[in-house]
Amino acid sequence: MTHTPITVARGNGIGPEIMAATLDILEAAGARLEIDEIEIGEEIYKRGCMTGIEDSAWVTLRKNKVFLKAPVFTPMGGGFKSLNVTVRKTLGLYANVRPCRAFHPFIQTHHPEMNLVIVRENEEDLYGGVEYKYTPHVTESIKLISRTGSERIARYAFEYARANGRKKVTCMVKDNIMKISDGLFYEVFQDIATDYPEIENERYIVDIGAARVASNPALFDVIVTQNLYGDIISDIAAEVSGSVGLGISANIGDEFAMFEAMHGTAPDIAGQGIANPSGLILSAIMMLVHIGQGDIAEKVHNAWLKTIENGIHTGDLYTQGLSRKNVGTREFKEAVIARMGQKPENLKPVSYEAEKGALIMPPLKARDEFERILVGTDIYIYTKEQDVQALAEGVLPHIVEGLDLSMISNRGVKMWPGHKPESFCSEMWRLRLQGDVSSSVVAQQISALTAAGFDIVKTHNLYTYDGELGFSKAQGE
Ligand code: NAD
Repeated sequence: MTHTPITVARGNGIGPEIMAATLDILEAAGARLEIDEIEIGEEIYKRGCMTGIEDSAWVTLRKNKVFLKAPVFTPMGGGFKSLNVTVRKTLGLYANVRPCRAFHPFIQTHHPEMNLVIVRENEEDLYGGVEYKYTPHVTESIKLISRTGSERIARYAFEYARANGRKKVTCMVKDNIMKISDGLFYEVFQDIATDYPEIENERYIVDIGAARVASNPALFDVIVTQNLYGDIISDIAAEVSGSVGLGISANIGDEFAMFEAMHGTAPDIAGQGIANPSGLILSAIMMLVHIGQGDIAEKVHNAWLKTIENGIHTGDLYTQGLSRKNVGTREFKEAVIARMGQKPENLKPVSYEAEKGALIMPPLKARDEFERILVGTDIYIYTKEQDVQALAEGVLPHIVEGLDLSMISNRGVKMWPGHKPESFCSEMWRLRLQGDVSSSVVAQQISALTAAGFDIVKTHNLYTYDGELGFSKAQGE
């Protein structure tokens, strides 16, 4: 039988301990793997590499296409980039799949019926890392949501549901507030849902949705959501299911895939031999299914379930009365290996198709064409002026022909004309200028205000699409 090449990184903190246990289990199960190791994280940052990963490691990752990764340490501040985000974005790993279930009555949980999967969009949203400080005291992070990104993740969620016998996909958004960005995400979700009539679909506003995941997770089957919401919801779900040590994550792209535990490097217990390797073991099981070794995945998964139901638990899971033996990482691994070929008797055994492999995604839908018309510009200026009437009177003589000053706002709230909220104003003001104009008029307007001494920190063009506004109104407008 052919062996599948994979890349392995042992990571930092508890990473080397849990990776050693996982690789021993894979070997004992007869996984057909050809392993290339790379070094990433702490030592690489120390060598002055700001991304924590060197060029030679990228060559290996691109060659092997499948990556089993232990947690890595990301230094705080100092311009260091998160290695995880860099890998996900560089390799186009757009879908982050996080199954989360209870193992009642063997692991303590308030939610015995819990068995959900979070499909988190992995490349867009606030994780673009596009941030600005426009004035000494006003900052901004860009939340970017694209039609293609939304379509790929919605499609992945429904394809995953279909392939895994799941019955419902829930979309979690905040489109009552972010009508344009979250509105697009939900609109695309609804459109894709029509291709899967046998799967129920529903929408939750993310705040109440997250609360329900905490209070009644059995309500959910597959949850599809954006990057930041997915990050928060999956930590809630992992915590509610019993332990962060059980959280697992598959990061899937068209060509590449990365599998990792959800938790971090656990520096508080590193080197003590007590870390729970289960998150990485269960992630490796998803990897085996992905590369078409469902037979091995089934063997490892059932041996792991049997170990859990036999009450052999690491310290993070150990509960008096439920657990039989409190073991370290190595003993836990040995217990799983000793049960290879066995099936659990109380927990439901798993079965995977031997050679099914990765999900095959249908092509993207054809895009509608829209008539896009420029209807003005928002110009943001930095000024310590707090009297909005005086600001308006200073700006009005410099408005060019074809544009009208329709509004001045501060922190998203209309301040002029005729609206006086009680809240404070920052030193960044937005001038909304509207009119049927060309981009050269917008350029003239920027020049005119600059020549008049206004400090412009950014501009946004305003468009309509088939007559619909492509920009939000200010609160109070
Ligand atoms: P953490 O997940 O490392 O630890 C949180 C708590 O959970 C700690 O008390 C820890 O002991 C416990 N814990 C975590 N995994 C466990 C396991 N397998 N078995 C038993 N107990 C476990 O989170 P943190 O402390 O916020 O982060 C520490 C470091 O990890 C940071 O440098 C962070 O950047 C990094 N991190 C990496 C990843 C990744 O590589 N995917 C993810 C998250 C955090």
